[in-house]
Amino acid sequence: MNHLIFHRFDDIGPYNDNTINILDRLEELCIPSIVAVIPNKLERKMADYIKELKYCIVAQHGVNHLNKVNAGWLDEFPEYLDKCIIKKQIRDGRDYLKEVLQRPITTYIPPWNNTSRQTVEILEELGFQVYSSQYNKLVESTMLQVPISIDVVKSYHPKSILKPYDVITNEVQNTMKYIDNYFIGIMYHPNEFLDNDVEMILNLIESYKAMAMEYFDLRELLMKIDTKEI
Ligand SMILES: [Zn+2]
Repeated sequence: MNHLIFHRFDDIGPYNDNTINILDRLEELCIPSIVAVIPNKLERKMADYIKELKYCIVAQHGVNHLNKVNAGWLDEFPEYLDKCIIKKQIRDGRDYLKEVLQRPITTYIPPWNNTSRQTVEILEELGFQVYSSQYNKLVESTMLQVPISIDVVKSYHPKSILKPYDVITNEVQNTMKYIDNYFIGIMYHPNEFLDNDVEMILNLIESYKAMAMEYFDLRELLMKIDTKEI
């Protein structure tokens, strides 16, 4: 099985030099990036930057990225919230991204890779075509699912610490051995990276360049144009 890798960058919104350094390099290498943008945290300057990227695919990442559950796996839109209100918030968020980034928004990535059954229904009703969470949080849905399998972060608290390079590459090798899917998604939170982290991540991305999905393939995949062979 010839696996392909895609890179997903979460919590995009604030203007951040490390994020920009990584996305710049991906553009130079003609490797696509999926950026999970938080509508209500998107700064104008960052929007202007993203708008110009040729190899960047924009997904909606919640609306405010605020947790609403008291215990358990974090979620911005848990089941007990009013469906009409959530639907309006997600729709407004999507319309805002469409307007400022001038791109279609057909992919949804829930904050913390988690959301409720009700929200999945809302996403389907709003016409989202692709849902990306993580491999062990798949949902029942008509949306195409492109989960991430690898998180480059070892721990998030009190601040984010990256796994060593070798650990990440081992995880990629193991995922290739055991995953049923052709696609291996790697998740990054570049706003939280230190300068040294950026260097390591760029090395990682470059070392997997040969396995990286082509922009047009990934965009087609995410637009669900030809999913029959997946
Ligand atoms: Zn997030």
